[in-house]
Amino acid sequence: MGIESKSIWMDGKLVPYEDAKIHVLSHTLHYGLGVFEGIRSYPQANGRGGVFKLDEHLRRLLDSAKMCRMDVPWTHAQLKEAVVQTLRENDMPDCYIRPIIFFGAGKMGLGARDNPVHCAIAVWDWGKYLGDEGIRNGIRVQTSTFTRHHVNSNLQRAKVIGHYVNSVLARYEAVENGYDEAIMLDGAGYVAEGTGENLFACRDGVVKTPPVVNILGGITRRTVIDVLKHDGIQVHEMHFGRDALYVADEVFLSGTAAEITPVREVDRRAVGVPGPLTRRVQDVYNRGVHGEVDWLRPFITNW
Ligand SMILES: *Cc1c(COP(=O)(O)O)cnc(C)c1O
Repeated sequence: MGIESKSIWMDGKLVPYEDAKIHVLSHTLHYGLGVFEGIRSYPQANGRGGVFKLDEHLRRLLDSAKMCRMDVPWTHAQLKEAVVQTLRENDMPDCYIRPIIFFGAGKMGLGARDNPVHCAIAVWDWGKYLGDEGIRNGIRVQTSTFTRHHVNSNLQRAKVIGHYVNSVLARYEAVENGYDEAIMLDGAGYVAEGTGENLFACRDGVVKTPPVVNILGGITRRTVIDVLKHDGIQVHEMHFGRDALYVADEVFLSGTAAEITPVREVDRRAVGVPGPLTRRVQDVYNRGVHGEVDWLRPFITNW
């Protein structure tokens, strides 16, 4: 398993994997202003692929670009067609999809405004982001010493390339300390999210998750809330401290890459084996993305 594929879509055409190159003076490489998405295709009952919530992801991609003042020369419909074309060309029903929009070369400096806007779409085979063992039995997490971006220091709702320095540093730290993932607190000390996943905590059958104020508004997060509400479970979108995690009955992370990953330990406090709510959400999500849940089926783009 690697990140290689047959072709990558770049600015309107499919190019061989080896030829999908950019100039070293690309503006985004130097300053990090650019946006991306993480999407997944799953094998469906007919053996072909289906992309889960493609429209929602493309909408967020274009929203992210708008917030960053990037004029994207492609429409939602064109990008959708490009994703489908890339999937067909590579023939990978089960894969991760990475659209990225970035500024190319031309001018340097923070004030450069008219560099060309490029768009690429790559696909690759990506198994369980936080490990097979993690998704089955839960991962161990640590509160990070790195603070999540202050609500006014960045555009938290956007999936901006440069934001991820904060996440990568937190992830390195957690892994070097022997944990699987970091939990990041915001500037006020409230629980925000994982480095690339949203977070849910359950106690006595009631679920809490931080509001979309200073976190990335995850599409998986939204799906989890819908699944829980569908089951009649109360979900509170509210701020809470790390102590709420220490006494939770269940904690889990959600994201397109991580899917639904249970947490079994937070800062050396056992949260326990993945509990019934986590198992239930995992089950509906896993069946849903494969087209096996009626009310989630309209969210699948078959290709
Ligand atoms: C992408 C991402 C998520 C998860 O979002 P999904 O839409 O569920 O994939 C959560 N937090 C951060 C910081 C992310 O970048």
